[in-house]
Amino acid sequence: MKLSYRSGNQIRQDFIDFFLERGHTFVPSSSLVPGGDQTLLFTNAGMVQFKDVFLGTDNRPYSRATNSQKCMRVAGKHNDLDEVGRDDTHHTFFEMLGNWSFGDYYKKEAIAWAWELLTQVWGIPKERLYPTCFEDEKGEIPRDDEAAENWRIQPGIDPTHILFFGRKDNFWEMADTGPCGPCSEIHLDRGAKYCNMQDVPGHVCKVNGDCTRFLELWNLVFIQYNRLSVSHLEPLPARHVDTGMGFDRLVSVLQGVDSNYKTDLLNPLMDVVQELTGHKNAQRAEHHTPYRVIADHARAASFLIADGVVPGNTGRNYVCRMIIRRAARFGGKIDLNEPFLAKVAEKVIENYGDFYPELKRNQATILKNITREEERFQRTVESGVAKLETLLAETKAAAGNSHPILPGEQAFDLYATYGLPLEITRDIARELDVNVDEKGFHEAMEKHRLASGAGEAFGPLGGEDVEVYRELMTGLQSQNKLGPEGVHYDPYNSLEVEGEVLAIVSSGEPVQEAHPGENVEVLLPETGFYVASGGQVADTGTIVSVTEPYWEIQVEDVRRPAAGVIVHSGKVVRGDPKVGDTAIARVDYQRRRDIMRNHTATHLLHAELHAALGDHARQAGSLVAPDRLRFDFTHPEAITPEQLERIEAGVNRDILGNYHLNITHKPLQEAISEGAMALFGEKYGAIVRTITIGEGSGPSEAFSYELCGGTHVDETGDIGLFLITSEGSAAAGIRRIEAVTGRAAYELVQRRFQALKKTAASLITTPEDVPTKVEDLLDELSEAHKQVAELRRELTAKEFNRKLEIVSTVAGVSVLTATLENTTVETLREMTDRFRQRYPSGVAVLATLGSDGKPILIAAVTEDLVERGLHAGELVKYVAKPLGGGGGGRPTLAQAGGRDASKLEAALASVMQWVEQKLA
Ligand SMILES: [Zn+2]
Ligand SMILES: [Zn+2]
Repeated sequence: MKLSYRSGNQIRQDFIDFFLERGHTFVPSSSLVPGGDQTLLFTNAGMVQFKDVFLGTDNRPYSRATNSQKCMRVAGKHNDLDEVGRDDTHHTFFEMLGNWSFGDYYKKEAIAWAWELLTQVWGIPKERLYPTCFEDEKGEIPRDDEAAENWRIQPGIDPTHILFFGRKDNFWEMADTGPCGPCSEIHLDRGAKYCNMQDVPGHVCKVNGDCTRFLELWNLVFIQYNRLSVSHLEPLPARHVDTGMGFDRLVSVLQGVDSNYKTDLLNPLMDVVQELTGHKNAQRAEHHTPYRVIADHARAASFLIADGVVPGNTGRNYVCRMIIRRAARFGGKIDLNEPFLAKVAEKVIENYGDFYPELKRNQATILKNITREEERFQRTVESGVAKLETLLAETKAAAGNSHPILPGEQAFDLYATYGLPLEITRDIARELDVNVDEKGFHEAMEKHRLASGAGEAFGPLGGEDVEVYRELMTGLQSQNKLGPEGVHYDPYNSLEVEGEVLAIVSSGEPVQEAHPGENVEVLLPETGFYVASGGQVADTGTIVSVTEPYWEIQVEDVRRPAAGVIVHSGKVVRGDPKVGDTAIARVDYQRRRDIMRNHTATHLLHAELHAALGDHARQAGSLVAPDRLRFDFTHPEAITPEQLERIEAGVNRDILGNYHLNITHKPLQEAISEGAMALFGEKYGAIVRTITIGEGSGPSEAFSYELCGGTHVDETGDIGLFLITSEGSAAAGIRRIEAVTGRAAYELVQRRFQALKKTAASLITTPEDVPTKVEDLLDELSEAHKQVAELRRELTAKEFNRKLEIVSTVAGVSVLTATLENTTVETLREMTDRFRQRYPSGVAVLATLGSDGKPILIAAVTEDLVERGLHAGELVKYVAKPLGGGGGGRPTLAQAGGRDASKLEAALASVMQWVEQKLA
């Protein structure tokens, strides 16, 4: 094919301009991180950002759109990673060109424009193109003759090139249900020399065949159905067009090269690598896999970081880490042992940055993250790879004649200990012809996740980077600013500590200085802030500078992101904290006192639960906060009010006993054998901290003996008061008690007491007399209710007596219809008795509105008329029907309800007609 040369950037612009001229709106690529779609790790197709439009849940101000969408396919169902670098066509990152019609143009325009762009604008020879259309092999969905017809009329097309294929190739579905429709693919015949099966006997090159001669270039999807079930398709009122053309492939065709890596999209990246290695062209050709992997991965990593996905341990961040490490390892194969990827990334930014300005905007971040990740990897990789090689040799030796498989557990250890991603372990194993048990790897990871209580490694997206903190600590240790144990932690004795600001971390990055409003993490050589554990929440407080210029940080949390590292996180409220400043870290003492009261009270509650319910009532969860405590424990049934009172009284007795807390450290086994309560699922060291509460100082006299790292009051009397605020079920077999102590208990009592005082004042009595007074009032009220009902009944009777005199007569029968206000069904019944007494032969329908405003009807028919075929049940149903209700009953008396009171009058008026018809 002889075409005038167009650069990749020009080709992309050609496509967009072509559709702009045809009334399309250019919609910039959405981020690689799909917005609002939790099911998707990365944007993997052009339609991701338009999904809502097809599903009909969103509208756009345009009905024609064109774009080039950034996509990643690296994990899950569409995992091409293994192929990347080994062939010419697979990539982790790629672009998808598309034009879109949302209920606007359809097959005619889409097909004509595709043909025009490919053959007129880009000059692809017509005789090389093969459009395909849909024909259902099951015969259930109509053949797409409309598309075929539109292809046939394209200028210069060879009609024998229009081919039909079935569901696999030519029917598109978003999911098991929802929008779907036939598609037309445009295939390009690259010529016989591109066939990779020329020496296979009997091979015939075919569109959608098994050789590499025909390339699928463009897919035009015509969304015209909504799938309701496996067998049921419904035509859509608005039909859409969704097209997708792989950009790298298109450029390879238009630039006349036989590999995506030879286009001006990827080739310049490999040139950078060659410059770095100093390879001759022959050497570059010999190492084509490392070259390709590096080019592909550097491009993907640049785009990922530009979209905010930096290297990390979980989800998308893990993918970013993994591809950088994988590229770094392939770099090692061609003797690139110093960080080099940033050089390649610079080229990516240069080539792509005009169309994707986010690359230029984030240039510094991209380069810094890539280099730092390579450095991290280099520190661990040598030992990791050496370890892996030993393991692989052992695996091979042990396998004998069967195919060697590296156990998943071992692959996971390499990841957890050396940071060697599974994908790299797999690469290396593959080179030695060993498989990796990936299922076992994921099981091991899951087990680790459960054991550590950490988030899923691949599941929830985001996650933080432990290595930033590990690095900080190693750095500080090498300067002798931190000891081998890391930050000195003593929340028990020192609530105020002075020290040098060793590090400040902002947005996951170490910084030298912070400013007002910024959220930061501060690392000091020692701290008295408690780190949340054992149910007790973290301390809050302040860090302030000791000397001018003054600054202050409000500490909202304290945590341990890596072993030995404790950071205070909070907001700068004043001044500019700097690394090296001397500062005082102060725990919020009042709040901490509240927490300590609640923690000691929790131990007392635990002991009292044992005393009141039995030894089975063991801790199953706990929260110790400043404003309350929550305690979950195993117990098979609800706790009676008497038990609850006894437990609360027991704890308060222990408080008033003012017992001293005896806190010591001793070997775990010794504490357990003395009867200390250890908590299930809690990890303990060889030496444990024990808390005993009781008469004397020894464990034998203690009524509470627990292993605990929390902070406590000195004497139980410090707790002040303990009040249970709720008791209930937390889970099957687990009860939950919530309680307050100290200040919160006082406030609770105050609130309740105020309410009681107010009530007493309203009742004009004393608080003690409120219950008797309320009982008296309730009695009076119920008496008054009775009187009101009696009066109403009398009023109704009076009203009814008047109405009783104005009955109509139909065929000699007296008919009464009436609506009575403010009355009950019982009274209505009573009134029908009055009617019968007054009219021995007659029909009455009485109505009232219930307290909900809906009509209630009673119908009465005298005996003699029942004999003549009238039935009260039928009548009441007849009347209730237009009211949207129903009912029934005996022939002489029946009742019904309705919904719509507005039709009541008309319904009652229809009674006359009913009687007339029945008697006719
Ligand atoms: Zn072939
Ligand atoms: Zn405790």
